[in-house]
Amino acid sequence: MQVFKFGGASVSSIDRINQVASILMSYKGQPLVVVISAMGKTTNELEAVVEAFYRGNKDSALTLFNAIKQRHLSTFHALMPSADGEAALLDLFTEVEWLLHDKPVREYDYYYDQIVCIGELLSTTIVHHFLVAQGIANTWMDVRDVLRTDANFRDANVDLAFAGVQAQGRLQPLLAQGKMVILQGFIGATSENESTTLGREGSDYTAAIFSNLLKAQSLTIWKDVEGVMNADPKLFPDAQLIKELNYTEVIEMAFYGAQVIHPKTIKPLQNGQIPMYVKCFLDPSLPGTLIHSTHLKSLPPIIILKNDLMLMKLGSRDFSFVGGSFMVKLYSILESLHIQPNLIQNGAITVHLCMDDKGDRTQRLASAVAEVFDVELEKGLTLLTIRHPTQELLQTLTKDRTRVLTQETPETVQVLMK
Ligand code: ASP
Ligand code: MG
Repeated sequence: MQVFKFGGASVSSIDRINQVASILMSYKGQPLVVVISAMGKTTNELEAVVEAFYRGNKDSALTLFNAIKQRHLSTFHALMPSADGEAALLDLFTEVEWLLHDKPVREYDYYYDQIVCIGELLSTTIVHHFLVAQGIANTWMDVRDVLRTDANFRDANVDLAFAGVQAQGRLQPLLAQGKMVILQGFIGATSENESTTLGREGSDYTAAIFSNLLKAQSLTIWKDVEGVMNADPKLFPDAQLIKELNYTEVIEMAFYGAQVIHPKTIKPLQNGQIPMYVKCFLDPSLPGTLIHSTHLKSLPPIIILKNDLMLMKLGSRDFSFVGGSFMVKLYSILESLHIQPNLIQNGAITVHLCMDDKGDRTQRLASAVAEVFDVELEKGLTLLTIRHPTQELLQTLTKDRTRVLTQETPETVQVLMK
């Protein structure tokens, strides 16, 4: 069996949903698990609904939600020759609307997950009914019955043992009969049946979990780009396609901030030795990128740029050395605030931390360390990372910038710059 994942961009319009159907048409009768994200930017729009709701702006939350609802309904009606499936969509809308009429009494992240999870439930419902209408038989499944998670809302951890049993019991029998199963990426549920989400862009991770649990022959991630490129083609017009990569390289790229693939995706694939293809849904005949377990001799330089970063400079007030127990404490504060610095450098009496500006959490970090250190913040920085760098390329890319900090190993150079 194979696993396919279609991202938000591949179901963002009527044309694109048609394109997904035409790809799936050629897999009719083959065992296939299809993981789908929310349509287009729906998740962002649902986030705005949550914010309005939690601020107590019920009317604005309902208005924002209504726009999402109308768009899904009009897409559905444009695709469907009949009203089959409309009732399922209406039920999903009603569930959210009920919730929006209440007053928030629990934490923000809980409501976030109860509301945001609807995006994937809607998109899969639409695609499921449309495929059936096109003669592509498939089973729609609520992934929340399979992926049980803890209650760490917005970044829930999946109980893989439970998921394994469910996958064997619920999916395997269908796949054994050559059926296609459609399910939602990014979401799960607790044992109390509360919805959870697995972290933004988490649909890749869902697809990887199912690939692992069902021992898929391969996972294909369908995107609106040719495959994995060595730089963002929007910023670097001569970016080139990388035809073959290994798990190690991809996990490094994701770690440094390349928007290739959700960082959690690789482990289940590597553990199950499952090859992954990144392919273009706009032209399935293109080869795309193959990611598997292989030794790669030469890779082009890979360029990753991250903007809006912050540098926190910690200076020892009384000239005590930084190290040992302080570093242990610093790492544990970072861990408890879920802050993962992009880069850390420490000297005798200073520590430099470069990280995403996480607003409130960054402030909490600053006040926690301010007890011992002088804290200086610099915002709006860019972090350039080059894997397999050449000096020439490094010069070109940093030419008109002021370097704030540089770190270098033979495989990777990172420059934080203004
Ligand atoms: N729809 C979710 C998001 O936009 C999950 C995903 O796309 O993978 O983050
Ligand atoms: Mg997405």
